[in-house]
Amino acid sequence: MDIYSPLVDIVGEDFTSNHEEELYIYSRDSGAQQPRKADYVVAPKTVEEVQQIVKLANKEKIPITPMGGGLTLSGLAVPIKGGIVLDMKRMDRIIEVNEKSRYVILEAGVTQGALQSHLEKNYPHLEHSMPDAPPMATIVGNVVIQGHGHLSVAQGINSQMVNGMEVVLPTGEVCKLGSCSISPYWFTRDPLPDLMGLFLGWLGTTGIITKVSLQLFPKPKFRDLLTFTSADLDLLPDFIFDITQLNLMDNLFIISQEWPPWAQGILYVPIISAQDEEEFKLKIELHKKLLRKYEGKITLVEGRHAERMREARLPVPPVTLGVMAADAKQGGGFEYTGGILPIEKVPEASSKAVEIAHKYGQPYLLGYQLLTGGHSMMCGLAYCLNRADGEDIEKVRKALDESNKLILDIGGVLWKAEALAQRLMVQRMDPNTVKLMKRVRKALDPNAIMNPGNWSD
Ligand SMILES: Cc1cc2nc3c(=O)[nH]c(=O)nc-3n(C[C@H](O)[C@H](O)[C@H](O)COP(=O)(O)OP(=O)(O)OC[C@H]3O[C@@H](n4cnc5c(N)ncnc54)[C@H](O)[C@@H]3O)c2cc1C
Repeated sequence: MDIYSPLVDIVGEDFTSNHEEELYIYSRDSGAQQPRKADYVVAPKTVEEVQQIVKLANKEKIPITPMGGGLTLSGLAVPIKGGIVLDMKRMDRIIEVNEKSRYVILEAGVTQGALQSHLEKNYPHLEHSMPDAPPMATIVGNVVIQGHGHLSVAQGINSQMVNGMEVVLPTGEVCKLGSCSISPYWFTRDPLPDLMGLFLGWLGTTGIITKVSLQLFPKPKFRDLLTFTSADLDLLPDFIFDITQLNLMDNLFIISQEWPPWAQGILYVPIISAQDEEEFKLKIELHKKLLRKYEGKITLVEGRHAERMREARLPVPPVTLGVMAADAKQGGGFEYTGGILPIEKVPEASSKAVEIAHKYGQPYLLGYQLLTGGHSMMCGLAYCLNRADGEDIEKVRKALDESNKLILDIGGVLWKAEALAQRLMVQRMDPNTVKLMKRVRKALDPNAIMNPGNWSD
């Protein structure tokens, strides 16, 4: 059944499309995954419009793929089974900032950049934990994939910062979760049953989030980074243990890449901040003092390279990653396996990742993100590709597949995994967990219309 006219009746002609040139854009992203053709793109403005679209899709059994910025790189907002791409960007209101309880209520299309500018202008003493992704990524898209931001070591990953949400269920009902289901205040998700877990990590397969409440944090007056270098990757677990025992940093970048040559080996870049100058200086000194234990093995980088690191990594978000993603192979393509590992497994993953990169003719490019106080590490095994070169794309797909298997073989899990990698996880999952996931999905989405092709076996 052609649903173009009923969709126009809901959101208007300006915000409904079945034009080839627009469908082309919504049928792919800048990673290595297969394009999948969308049949319709719609951009709703209100919760009521979202409800009507969902009810129509349910009646006609047409898939819906919710989309924020479409920037996961692993094809998660590309419609695997066709149907409607629901572009949430017009739902872009920042509804309320509660200054004293430090949270913001916003609609699903609000971007990282829009929230950052709003806070800078109106609440310069508050900030949210901002991912390194381009600023047009949405807050909601990021919490759905359980992403991480520049406060991830100190405050946790971004989905842990959600206090409450409003959701349109796959059958069209609107539902509020967290304290906002009882009270006018969206200030906490505890101590209620945590129904938000039904929507976080599910990649849009269980419902459409229309609003969230996100925690805000004090913005520090002083902020800087240090750059440490080491040739010995095997020291990483002990060093991470010691540096997190200090419990003094906001974030820790770890970089190991073949190019430029001075970034080979491993670079540790702790980000340190404080409200008070004396406290700030003390924190910096305590981090430098830690190096005494690793004398001759881990050293402080100073001078030009340290300054370059400051220019690249101190801005929020950092300036380097987007440039690399767009330019490295002059074809605008980039994708990474996001392996989340116990800290002690990181050296093994890294040395094997170098072998995989070289096997596929790529320089190695490893970016790590320490998560939530140091309990685990996200290891990004990244590959650049020329999107106009089919052979190059095929090579990167193979490298990603090997990288995914490597992470799973050594006991890790995959973050923002593409559909094929989700399947690898489902195959290894406890069968009763798989059954439970299917039951949850069936109960919420009886006609299987929500982002089908994801989280399936
Ligand atoms: C250069 C670069 C650097 C990056 N660095 C980081 C980083 O530091 N940290 C990090 O976490 N990520 C990073 N990413 C990955 C990614 O871009 C971000 O996580 C981004 O925030 C995802 O948001 P999005 O709006 O693009 O999500 P989308 O890709 O639009 O959506 C993500 C998933 O959520 C679903 N979804 C979207 N909106 C809704 C909704 N309203 N309701 C239900 N489901 C929905 C989609 O269907 C999809 O499955 C990076 C990406 C790039 C290109």
